[in-house]
Amino acid sequence: MGSLPLIWWLIASVCFIFSLGGLSRHETSRLGNRLGIIGMMLAIIAAFCFKLFPSIGGGAHAIGGIGSGSFILLLSMIGVGGAIGAVLAQRVEMTKMPELVAILHSFVGLAAVLVGLANFGNLHVDGQGGEYYIHLLEIAVGIFIGGITFTGSVVAWGKLNGRFTSKPLIIPNRHWINLAMVATCVVLGLFVMFLNWWVGLFSLILITFISFALGAHLVLAIGGADMPVVVSMLNSYSGWAAAAVGFMLPNDLLIITGALVGSSGAILSYIMCRAMNRSFISVILGGFGGEVAGGAGDDSAVKTYNTTSAEETAEWLANSEEVIIIPGYGMAVAQAQHAIREICELLQKRGVKARFAIHPVAGRLPGHMNVLLAEANVPYDIVLEMEEINEDFPNTGTVLVIGANDIVNPGAQDDPSSPIYGMPVLECWKAQNVVILKRSMATGYSGVDNPLFYKENSWMLFGDAKASVDGILQALRQMNPI
Ligand code: NDP
Repeated sequence: MGSLPLIWWLIASVCFIFSLGGLSRHETSRLGNRLGIIGMMLAIIAAFCFKLFPSIGGGAHAIGGIGSGSFILLLSMIGVGGAIGAVLAQRVEMTKMPELVAILHSFVGLAAVLVGLANFGNLHVDGQGGEYYIHLLEIAVGIFIGGITFTGSVVAWGKLNGRFTSKPLIIPNRHWINLAMVATCVVLGLFVMFLNWWVGLFSLILITFISFALGAHLVLAIGGADMPVVVSMLNSYSGWAAAAVGFMLPNDLLIITGALVGSSGAILSYIMCRAMNRSFISVILGGFGGEVAGGAGDDSAVKTYNTTSAEETAEWLANSEEVIIIPGYGMAVAQAQHAIREICELLQKRGVKARFAIHPVAGRLPGHMNVLLAEANVPYDIVLEMEEINEDFPNTGTVLVIGANDIVNPGAQDDPSSPIYGMPVLECWKAQNVVILKRSMATGYSGVDNPLFYKENSWMLFGDAKASVDGILQALRQMNPI
């Protein structure tokens, strides 16, 4: 390969690495995003140029030239794909972002399967030698990972948008079934490598279908509250699928980028597993979320709860020394973050110490709440992670829970029969007053009732979160300045 492609790939890879570094902190996240865009633009333009003018890419062997028919096809594919992507990204609401991410992961998986099958189709005749066998192994592994990623992501997309139930599908002996599928794929992979081309083709088609079934089954078996880890795990799988495509084509940049996405997704999954007190290994095996009993307490008892008004809430807030605001998925749905920032400013002017508490799986995307609060220009220094603020609740006058539910469920600590038992939660019930802004007594994403709502110091403020927050803001504005 000529040195020019290597230099371009290196520059693009460095952009991706710095992009990941930038995305790890609020202050540098915009820069990180831009670097990612630049890296991707460089990669597409360079790949296109090297394909069009093989001589600058180091000769046909390095990248391979294309005829005018393929050139038009390639250009129109980039045009159509880019246009669809741009329109989708413009239109998608922040609350639908995880679904978009999940479905995009499925495209990577499907691409790996298709590239693998096309690659094998191009081989036509049986070959020999170490390199040939390694290439066949790459194809089989690429199709296997791609297949799992494809259907796993489609199921995750369906679970996130409510097309599939968020309840885990538990079929008897499911771990053995999964193991049998993996073992069959290993044997078929050996057929691909060591038997003739036709047997290989048939085996690859079988691997495709088995990996499709395995991906769907792994994700269907996972309960609602555990979906965040699944989304980041699929992110990691999509990276490995892209790396596998990189080996097949071969393309160094795809290998590097795939490995970056794969490993960063795996690290994120590990961090989320720790945050949710789940075992990393059982996540990879799709084996968690369903083992625990499904109930959460005795539902037959009539439970009573307190209600309050926006005006009363404003009084409590203004008279508290410390206030903690807990945003959740409902805040994203209602788009209440801007009005909440204003409440926070008014309270600070009155000398109230107002801060935000962020649970690692609040909303529907890692970092979902941080993004919304950043968009509303909430200063970073008053946005605290769960472990930084959880001990402060006993000294807090009023807690505002805005459209959050699972992340403030005390059952996760004291009800072993709860499906979310063991997940660390924000201990807001330890404060003097807790006001919960939501529209009804409905459950959150995990479908589990929340004992917080029935506590003596809890007060329900029913209504759309934006309307309730506007009401509180109005009442605060009408108060006498101090
Ligand atoms: P939940 O889904 O547990 O609860 C959200 C609450 O918001 C609901 O109970 C709903 O109640 C209320 N709500 C919805 N719309 C509005 C509105 N317009 N106004 C007022 N309230 C509203 O969200 P949490 O953030 O507490 O927890 C996140 C859950 O999502 C966890 O179970 C997590 O595991 C899961 N998850 C998280 C992902 C992530 O990466 N962060 C990814 C996938 C899943 P009501 O209908 O009564 O208004």
